[in-house]
Amino acid sequence: MKKAKDILNTANLARLVLGLAIILTIVATILVLTVRRTTTSGPSDNTCTSVVVVASGDTLSKLLLEQGLTHNDVNAIASALKKDAGISTLRADKDKLEFTRPSETEPVSKIVVVPSPWRQVELTCDGAGGWNCNTIDVERDTRATYRSGEILDGDSFYLAGQRAGIPAGILVDVYDLLAFEMDFERDVRAGQKFWVVYEENFSDNKKIDNGNVLAVSFQALRGNVQMYRYRKSDGTIGYYDAEGNGAIKSLKRTPINNAKITSKFSNKRKHPVLGYTRAHKGVDFRASTGTPIPAAGAGRVVARGYNRGHGNYIKLRHNGSYETLYAHLSKFVKNVKVGTSVRQGQTIGYVGSTGMSTGPHLHYEIIKDGKHVNPMTVKLPAISNLDSKEKKKFQEYRKLLDSGVEQLRDKPDLFIQL
Ligand SMILES: [Zn+2]
Repeated sequence: MKKAKDILNTANLARLVLGLAIILTIVATILVLTVRRTTTSGPSDNTCTSVVVVASGDTLSKLLLEQGLTHNDVNAIASALKKDAGISTLRADKDKLEFTRPSETEPVSKIVVVPSPWRQVELTCDGAGGWNCNTIDVERDTRATYRSGEILDGDSFYLAGQRAGIPAGILVDVYDLLAFEMDFERDVRAGQKFWVVYEENFSDNKKIDNGNVLAVSFQALRGNVQMYRYRKSDGTIGYYDAEGNGAIKSLKRTPINNAKITSKFSNKRKHPVLGYTRAHKGVDFRASTGTPIPAAGAGRVVARGYNRGHGNYIKLRHNGSYETLYAHLSKFVKNVKVGTSVRQGQTIGYVGSTGMSTGPHLHYEIIKDGKHVNPMTVKLPAISNLDSKEKKKFQEYRKLLDSGVEQLRDKPDLFIQL
């Protein structure tokens, strides 16, 4: 049975290729892929090139003078780099410089600064003391890769994702996305399946880095959570659920990724310190002292202080009706004060155990129209939604991506060329 399924008959293959080709066309119009070809002009016999990786303590002028360039050259090169390429300082262990001479005994006539695998800045001597600067985008070959996994007994999503071969950086992005919809404490169980489609960038057939998460699906207890990255006609990019509703919510249910819930929201519970029954108006997340606390959403700081129960706390106001509160902090962030505007994910303080607390944790509250609500179940507003015309386009894109995923499911070694 299994063997028969593995045999790729001609009809199946034709369908697969067709499917991938359609996706290729659609996806290619949605993603921006740049690109001019890297110049690989055949060097004449005598040219001599040396490569210098910038080390700590190196400056542009130091490196140029070491190559025998004059102070005039240094000034001309520095100003051309700044004006034409926006480069004013070199970064140690990151930037690379290539010096080319027409022959071993002649002065440097060409310098290539490589600030990223996708960009090269070429400086050429004009022979009259001046230097021309030209930026080249390196050709990038982007593929969409599919990985799927399953939660096992005693597993975390992170472990299951690693086992599925999803790179750590992509897993963090996926976690960030799912955290808008999922409660990792209550929604994750053995047997649940998930898949992720993400970009891998290649140059000359060599994998250089990972790109964006294109789609994610997770069989949560409360239903299948699906998110798709989609570029609208106006060029803005967002994540949407299968129906085309904005998947990025104005607030996060779990501000700290991967933090275990140690106490849930309830209108009645026995207080661990006071000993008598009292409502718990937020959710407690276990985290070690000093863990950065990200703002659950964009907003403005409306309170920052200390009280007996909350210890050090900070409160943000988001759009009109929502506020969030973070308590038991060990430390505040110096520049985040009452009145400061913060972005979603910006660190606003550090986990601690100040006030009435039995150990380091984050106590997190969401207040809607002045009333405390359960962060894990409250329906949160989406940051952006698609209008009906854009929704139709999104649906076409999603169906194609889904059918591509369908085909990759059985052949995980294949990828979609973007
Ligand atoms: Zn609490």
